[in-house]
This record gives sequence, structure tokens and C-alpha cells, in this order.
Amino acid sequence: MERETEPTSVQNGPETTTPRAIIVETPRLGPQPPRPEPKRGQIHRPKHVPQRTCVACRDKDAKRTLTRIVRTPDGQIEIDPTGKRNGRGAYLCTQASCWQRALTTPVLARALKTEIDDTACMTLQTHLDSLSGPPATAPAADPSERDA
Ligand SMILES: [Zn+2]
Repeated sequence: MERETEPTSVQNGPETTTPRAIIVETPRLGPQPPRPEPKRGQIHRPKHVPQRTCVACRDKDAKRTLTRIVRTPDGQIEIDPTGKRNGRGAYLCTQASCWQRALTTPVLARALKTEIDDTACMTLQTHLDSLSGPPATAPAADPSERDA
């Protein structure tokens, strides 16, 4: 008996006869160069280098070459080598004359909106001394030499 239940081979009926839609897109010719995709959220800005102004000579320079003087929240005037301390800051360049001016004129006091008191003067003077040159280091007397 013939098996009538045998599934008839599937003829590639409609698929082959269906006219394919004409592809109007440009044909791919080999691997395409990757297209640089602009990332969203990236705004093109000119590179911003933070500039600071020396309060004495008004010279603008990149932040790093200027020394920050900070008035701490409790009113102290301190040198802030890190530039990150809290408080109102003012900047002086590395010229000793500018530190001299900060000591003798109200430029720094004005910039910090405070008075430069004796303690602050000492702080500035100490830094000024280190700028004007290495402090004269007294030769260390070695007491052990005495033991002859
Ligand atoms: Zn200066």
C-alpha cells in the first residue's frame, strides 16, 4: 500500500516566482570604511586652560605657575600650594616683586576682601624670602666634634 500520508515535498512555489523588489540602494562594493559617528552629549568646546591673574602685576598665566593665597573660612591668610583649599583665593606669580607689593600695598587685601594682619604678613614674608633666594643656612655645628 502506498503511503498517502507521506508529506509531499515542499515545492519552492511562491518564493521563486515572486518578483523580487528592485533594490535601489547603492550596491556594497567591498568593505565600507567605518564612518565616524559623532557621540551625542559631546559638545565641541575650545580647550579651556584655567587662567589666573596675579593680583600684583595683573599678569595672566596658567594656574600652576601662580601661587594661591587663601583666606581660610576662619580668616587666616595662608599659602595654598594645592590650590584646592576652601576659602577666598588670590593669586601671586613667582616674582618676588609681586609678593613685595602684596605686602606693601593693599592689592592682596583687596583681592581677599580682608586685612593682611601681622600673621599674614609673616606668611607672605616667609614665602617672599624663599623666592628671593635660598635662605642662608647656617652651617650645622656638630657637637660630637668637640669630643676630642
Ligand atoms: Zn605678578
